[in-house]
Amino acid sequence: MTSSSEVYVITGANRGLGFEFAKQLLEAGNTVVATCRSPPKADALHGLTSSHQGRLHIFSLDVMDEASVQAAASEVEKQFPDGVDVLINNAGILSDHVTHLNMEVKDLRDVLLTNVVGTYMVTKALLPSIRKGRKKQVINISSTLGSISTLQGSLDAPEGSFPATLSHYHLAYRSSKAALNMQTVCMAAELKKEGITIVSQNPGWVQTDMGSYTSNKMGGKVKPPLDAPTSISKQLALFAKLTPADTGKFYDVTGDVVPW
Ligand code: NDP
Repeated sequence: MTSSSEVYVITGANRGLGFEFAKQLLEAGNTVVATCRSPPKADALHGLTSSHQGRLHIFSLDVMDEASVQAAASEVEKQFPDGVDVLINNAGILSDHVTHLNMEVKDLRDVLLTNVVGTYMVTKALLPSIRKGRKKQVINISSTLGSISTLQGSLDAPEGSFPATLSHYHLAYRSSKAALNMQTVCMAAELKKEGITIVSQNPGWVQTDMGSYTSNKMGGKVKPPLDAPTSISKQLALFAKLTPADTGKFYDVTGDVVPW
């Protein structure tokens, strides 16, 4: 578990994994800037304020909107002059469950803008705060669906099996997470000399709106094996052990390195 009083910024913190990150980090005594597209509608987050007085800050941040990202970053700099310890780039969207050649171009564009361009804008805007922080960590929440070698390995799976069926879906999402992984390594290369640690992290397949979508589309035949509290507690235990030597790596929720 994390030591107390670190400052975390989380994107997409109003529901799913982002919310659970905020909840568990607050329970561990940290300060959390929980960002989301619409703070007035973030009822679950507001429900945490009374138990964590003064340590939960809810900011508006839409990763698709550069002005919104800049405004949130400026507010973070103003309210946290000693910097941010850890940025968790969690916000993301999934592509529709249509086969690769049936997807809409708009879907591809939106997924790449959110998961790749959005994450880039957020990291870049918050870099001055991360540089001033003590831990200097950036966590990009990725997915094994972005692992090119894993998908390639499933091409030989028997037709009709789960890996074979899943391999026909989510071109946009897979491409976005593969590009996000490259972004992790590019930034690691440039920021290593400053002692900034940046990794890609797979949270496992988790029972959230996104995690359950694929399962439902496949008739619920294979269900997400993890609940959000379990995924997040495992991930936080891993983040607590990260060192600058880990920068540029892609970790599974098990702590194993995921093949690119
Ligand atoms: P959910 O769909 O449950 O939540 C997604 C979150 O991202 C919501 O808070 C949503 O906000 C936010 N978001 C989407 N677009 C934007 C935007 N433009 N600006 C700001 N926030 C935005 O997904 P999960 O919690 O399951 O996923 C979180 C991360 O984990 C994602 O990056 C996902 O790719 C990754 N992941 C999830 C897995 C799973 O099994 N669940 C597996 C592997 C990776 P809003 O409510 O406004 O839509």
